[in-house]
Amino acid sequence: MRKIICFCLLLCVSVFNTYGQIENTTSSIKAPIFNDTLLLHHIKTLSSDAFEGRRTGTPGALKAANYIIKEFTDNAILPLGKSLEQPFTFTHEDTTYNGVNILGYVKGTTYPQKYVVISAHYDHEGIKNGQIYNGADDDASGVSALFSFVEYFKNNPPKHSVILAAFDAEELGMEGSKYYVNNSIIPLKQIVVNLNMDMISRSDKNELFAVGTVFNKTLEQIISNHEYSTTISLLKGHDQGNWNENWTYASDHVSFHRRGIPFLYFGVDDHADYHQPTDDYENIHPEFYIEAVKVIMSVFNKVDNSLQLSNN
Ligand SMILES: [Zn+2]
Repeated sequence: MRKIICFCLLLCVSVFNTYGQIENTTSSIKAPIFNDTLLLHHIKTLSSDAFEGRRTGTPGALKAANYIIKEFTDNAILPLGKSLEQPFTFTHEDTTYNGVNILGYVKGTTYPQKYVVISAHYDHEGIKNGQIYNGADDDASGVSALFSFVEYFKNNPPKHSVILAAFDAEELGMEGSKYYVNNSIIPLKQIVVNLNMDMISRSDKNELFAVGTVFNKTLEQIISNHEYSTTISLLKGHDQGNWNENWTYASDHVSFHRRGIPFLYFGVDDHADYHQPTDDYENIHPEFYIEAVKVIMSVFNKVDNSLQLSNN
């Protein structure tokens, strides 16, 4: 969804951590955290031509939804509602679409009534002029990272309950997340934070942004005060300023932001293949991607251990 070229760096967090392990001072984390090969397998599959660019309402999107449902079900992820699917209908530019969010649930061990929503959108641009827009970075990368979280939670159950949200229709105006917050299965006031991942698999500069810290002091400190990686930089920024620098409105996190729910949005700068048919698996940066997912998990872990957030 992003249409932004400019960027501003507010702070560079330099990081020193053992590769492959989450740095954490308040709980013990077992390594390996997740299987990198599986992560790459999922992004490669979801961005293959067989999924036809995953346009909302098309057979390709249905195939992607079924892939996510199978992955959640095979790994014993419970549905947030009566089923994993939250169907919805909306109109965009005089066309009516049927979308479906996929919502999984992991019960928290300490704060089961408080929820962290970890999200990514599975839809993309589909087929235009005979060309398939595979959307590897945008956003098969975020959806595949959801599966790594599924794997991680098997051995590291979260303290807060977690909603694993694969939203539909982001590319058509964040319709899936908009529907979700308007029809939330649990009261919105029980959602502590939204961690949204959209475009996390490539960066020429090895930079991952954490957007949204300007709105929440606890999240700002979680990003600023810790060292997350030796190989990539986690940067604050892109959450204020003029429209072309500001990614607050750029993806599904905005639906939570508009309801006053704190968010962190993880994403990279726009690149040459952004919203092009060349946003393919071959153009992602596997090492960056694997490390980015580790960093995001590490941030999740800080959030999950934050008393300030859970007490709000
Ligand atoms: Zn996107």
